[in-house]
Amino acid sequence: MRWSHAFIPTLRDDPAGAEAVSHKLLVRAGYVRQLMSGVYSLLPAAFRVRSKIRTIIEEEIDRIGGQQFLLPAIHPAEVWKRSGRWEAVGEEMFRLRDRRGVDLALGMTHEEVFATLAAELTSYKQLPQLWYQIQTKFRDEPRAKSGVLRVREFTMKDSYSFDIDEAGLADQFEAHYRAYTRIFERLGLNSIPVKASSGVMGGTGSVEFMVPSDAGEDLVAHSEECGYAANIEQALSRIDVIEDDAGLPAPEKFPTPGVRTIDALAAFPGGASADRQIKTLVYSADDEYVLALLRGDHSLQEQKLAECLAVNKLRPAHEDEIVELLGATPGSLGGVGITELRILADLPLRGRRSMITGANDDGFHFRGVDVERDIRVEEWVDLREVRAGEGCPQCSGVLDVFKAIEVGHIFKLGTKYSEALGATVLGDEGKEREIWMGSYGIGLERNMAAVIESHNDERGILWPVAVAPWHVVITLVKLDEETSRVGHELYEALRAVGVDVLLDDRDERPGVKFNDAELIGIPLRITVGPRGLSDGVVEISIRENGETRHHNLGEVVEVVSSFICSASEGS
Ligand code: ATP
Ligand code: MG
Repeated sequence: MRWSHAFIPTLRDDPAGAEAVSHKLLVRAGYVRQLMSGVYSLLPAAFRVRSKIRTIIEEEIDRIGGQQFLLPAIHPAEVWKRSGRWEAVGEEMFRLRDRRGVDLALGMTHEEVFATLAAELTSYKQLPQLWYQIQTKFRDEPRAKSGVLRVREFTMKDSYSFDIDEAGLADQFEAHYRAYTRIFERLGLNSIPVKASSGVMGGTGSVEFMVPSDAGEDLVAHSEECGYAANIEQALSRIDVIEDDAGLPAPEKFPTPGVRTIDALAAFPGGASADRQIKTLVYSADDEYVLALLRGDHSLQEQKLAECLAVNKLRPAHEDEIVELLGATPGSLGGVGITELRILADLPLRGRRSMITGANDDGFHFRGVDVERDIRVEEWVDLREVRAGEGCPQCSGVLDVFKAIEVGHIFKLGTKYSEALGATVLGDEGKEREIWMGSYGIGLERNMAAVIESHNDERGILWPVAVAPWHVVITLVKLDEETSRVGHELYEALRAVGVDVLLDDRDERPGVKFNDAELIGIPLRITVGPRGLSDGVVEISIRENGETRHHNLGEVVEVVSSFICSASEGS
């Protein structure tokens, strides 16, 4: 490609409001443009990067036996109704109606459609199968942000495995685990597999691949010592057990005028430290209200509550709803004497005595509360969000918590979709059996952005060779006849051996050309100018470390090829 005729619209300034490094760089370096919130055009340089990511993914999924499909992006509501997700998914799904009034959806994932095809499988002898596609997904994300890290239209590689039993699923899950590990390694990403929550997918287990980054929206709890890693939505931790005194024979109501927070109650004469208080939260869960109780110094992890309740819609109750339900405002709430609401309590409250909680009467609390004796807890569950510094649940070490980007997610689905969509086969004993399914996703553009988050410096992007849009830029520092001739000859010679080359033949100052080349992040630069040519040499510089050497014209192809080879082997 000749830069004079390439569309690489680099900008001097970062886009307004961009925070993530990848967002700033993708726009400034001329890779993407936003069309509307969460919807981006990929310009030619980004298309090249995405193609390379795509090839790496295809190679690794093909290697574990994947067969590539291409399913429609537009789906009839019918298949989503059969799985129950037409209702379960909510506003994240783009829905529309055709001219006949038929409900349709834009595909946000393809379990239903693949399971519909799997219904054509007839015998266990055809299993296992591994099917995949690389297809556009649509998700009406509530908070599209950070450039292409979280968008409303993106490309996903999604695979689906089909097996006769749970052991078969475990094998295919394991194969994907290894394939994903290789894919992220080849992309230059330091990915950490973590235990995750399955959310609306359902199923029996899932693993997310996380890349530590400040631009990430997920939190991962991690123990350096034993390698425990879990999404904060799932993570467990070890905390100290608290010994209580005998307490009172019954809860005792006492006035706490003006006290509305845990801290205020801890400071109040006759109050108690946060770990001797009960925090009472009211949630609206689908169409009922529930109380969630935690220790005063602990925080609720909402996803854990959502999974315990197995509900689709969960939100904190509004103040007017709370007043109507409990007769008091937040700050004075408690579970003592409540019989008509479902109460879930976090495990560290079990066995606790002599606790303080709101009396459902503004300005009053109860003390001497024995949680099991005085509160009708329906379920003891894990609701607490772990914090950095708490003990690892698996070893004697301590947890750290870091932000991360989820670059891939693999699920054991079980038989939920095959049951719903009739994907059964005859087993060897001659009986109909539901197929065990798994599903496995990687977002291409999010991975492109994650690579940038991990590979950049103050001057721009530092693409790993494996995904760089071009391996080499040939920068002509002058456009005199000799420089142009040699530049073009090198360009053709490198292309002939399969190197991706960009020839910067623009009529610009050398400084502008150098800055642009660094900004767009090409791993190697060959600088061709009259001064070097008078000695028969050009300069080759490595973008990542700035190392620059002179080379005779005759050895350029060899030097470049061996750089690309060794960089590709290293990845
Ligand atoms: P998140 O929790 O970030 O919303 P998810 O759990 O909804 O992700 P999956 O449904 O598991 O994501 O999708 C598989 C992969 O697709 C993700 O690991 C990610 O790489 C990509 N992906 C998902 N949602 C988006 C999005 N809104 N924008 C870009 N990529 C996405
Ligand atoms: Mg999501």
